[in-house]
Amino acid sequence: MAIPTLPTALTLEIVTPDRSLVREEVQEVQVPAVEGYMGILPGHTPLLATLQVGEITYRKGTEQGHLHVAFGFVEVLPDRVTVLAQIAERADDIDVSRAEAARKRAEERLAKPALEIDFERARVAMMKSLIRLQVATRARTRA
Ligand code: ATP
Repeated sequence: MAIPTLPTALTLEIVTPDRSLVREEVQEVQVPAVEGYMGILPGHTPLLATLQVGEITYRKGTEQGHLHVAFGFVEVLPDRVTVLAQIAERADDIDVSRAEAARKRAEERLAKPALEIDFERARVAMMKSLIRLQVATRARTRA
């Protein structure tokens, strides 16, 4: 009987409702699942997970790619990772001054008394802006 061979790469696809951001053969992916960051290698057990606000990192040979993602789902198969993101940007496409302005607005809102603000909305805005700034910095320093 033939021994099944394990896949050596993953086809990574990242899409949002309005565009496709990534379609590449990669060796490793890390995604921000609601339960925490999840590392995926070829041959991973199939699963479906919900995403929170965070950073997606992938490795293609010696190169790394970074994206900001906010909400959506990831489907993992042994040779394929598909991310259906509500919102996502590649590191190079992040507008740093826009993210910095959003961070400042969120910080001002979160400094107000809790009863006066939509706390969850302000928290998400803060998280998105901080992750965008972090991802943009990684692209510039090639971390
Ligand atoms: P802002 O408060 O600056 O409008 P936001 O966090 O409310 O930002 P989102 O609702 O997260 O914006 O995203 C709306 C659209 O704008 C999405 O397509 C997202 O990819 C894009 N976007 C938001 N902020 C940035 C940014 N700093 N750089 C590049 N694209 C961004």
